[in-house]
Amino acid sequence: MISSRVKLDADISNTEEILSPTYSLRYFTEGIPKYKIPDDGMPANATYQLVRDELNLDGNAAFDLGSFTTTWMEPEVEKLILENLGKNFVDRFEYPQTTEIHQRIVNMLGHLFNAPEQAEFCGTATIGSSEAIHLGLLAHKWTWKKRRIKEDKSLSTPNIIFGADAHVCWDKFAKYFEVEPRIIPIEKNRFFIDAESVRQRIDENTICVGVIMGTTFTGACEPVKEINDLLVQVAQEKGWYIPIHVDAASAGFVLPFVNPELEWDFRLSHVRSINVSGHKFGLVYPGLGWLIFKDKSDLPGDLIFYVNYLGDTMPTFTLNFSRSSDMILAQYYNLLRLGHSGYRRIINNCLENAKYLSNRLVESGRFELLSNLELPIVTFKFKEAKDFTPFQLARKLRERGWMLPAYNLPNNASDLTVMRVVIRETFSRDMAESLCSDIINAYDTLDNTKKKQLQPTISPRRGHYAT
Ligand SMILES: *Cc1c(COP(=O)(O)O)cnc(C)c1O
Repeated sequence: MISSRVKLDADISNTEEILSPTYSLRYFTEGIPKYKIPDDGMPANATYQLVRDELNLDGNAAFDLGSFTTTWMEPEVEKLILENLGKNFVDRFEYPQTTEIHQRIVNMLGHLFNAPEQAEFCGTATIGSSEAIHLGLLAHKWTWKKRRIKEDKSLSTPNIIFGADAHVCWDKFAKYFEVEPRIIPIEKNRFFIDAESVRQRIDENTICVGVIMGTTFTGACEPVKEINDLLVQVAQEKGWYIPIHVDAASAGFVLPFVNPELEWDFRLSHVRSINVSGHKFGLVYPGLGWLIFKDKSDLPGDLIFYVNYLGDTMPTFTLNFSRSSDMILAQYYNLLRLGHSGYRRIINNCLENAKYLSNRLVESGRFELLSNLELPIVTFKFKEAKDFTPFQLARKLRERGWMLPAYNLPNNASDLTVMRVVIRETFSRDMAESLCSDIINAYDTLDNTKKKQLQPTISPRRGHYAT
């Protein structure tokens, strides 16, 4: 104790320095400790500059073409976000109006997904679709378990059916919550699951079938209506009621605005829960997903915890506890600010730009399209095998700042390497034009380099110096 007091006294001049404006370049003569907390702090502006400068090594989020998440929001909503960053959403007694707004959004989404009038839908904000999916599937696992107990049947291992094209959070759910995953492989000519493959895997311990509207691999929407028909039939024939959870992480904020006739949501009888990412086409920054149940009865009461906290008893159904209110309020802002017509206009722009980009890529004669553009997601592959790979093309494009991911499809199409561009609101026609030219140039450069390397070289006897 004494020694630290002495040190403080001796450090007064240092404290003054800390309070005066100092800039990092003029301040730091040595590197900062990277893996241990420094003994003393540093001036605010120097810290800011230091961290910001280091982040310049990161890519520019606007050029992150593979990402689904929002990278731009209006200044007015950014102000709202800043003002509410420190508000803990879980303190409902303290912030009742934020809770009210959360309920309004759940209602808006319930209606958006066509919950039937007579149903009492319910839902919650989550950190993203992953948490929403885990919670939704957990509810279906409990419904199965309760039914088995009620029917006095044994509790053997529950199983869940989904495609190899599902997001990794589905595999995580199966592992974390001990449910056997029955994974349907995809094929080179079919990038999503079909009803027949589901039928082959169903039994009385199937807690749920996962159907994806907008796979991350190709942007495909799976045939949810066909699968619903199958489950109706299974219920009639075998008496097994198996719900569908629709993973609409990206499509949930796309299809209702641009293709409202398509029946993929609560209009289908077995669709009992839906997740959507607010931070994808909901046009909010990362940190927000939504889970909606068609009816209260789809969420077993045992999973809701009533926490007596800071003056109120509040029901919670989330995996984590504290979170900022910021993105929930940002979602509300977007819904009010844009309305149906605003979302429709933005999504239509994205679709138009997706069409433009795909057409140009196909017309170049070098690429083949894998996505069908139901969503603004352009997935493509090389038209013919080359002696360079899409991974090399991705690296080459990085020289121009573009971050365009290359990856392999899941089984049984894992020998296909593809590239993906998610057309977000900020991807302008201008950017599409530049990107196309850059992709084609990069492709040709790689192609020419390879050709040159393959040509038999005549050994230059003169003018050849060893280096
Ligand atoms: C993005 C995505 C997820 C994961 O969502 P997060 O919001 O990132 O947690 C799950 N499924 C699909 C289909 C996705 O596109």
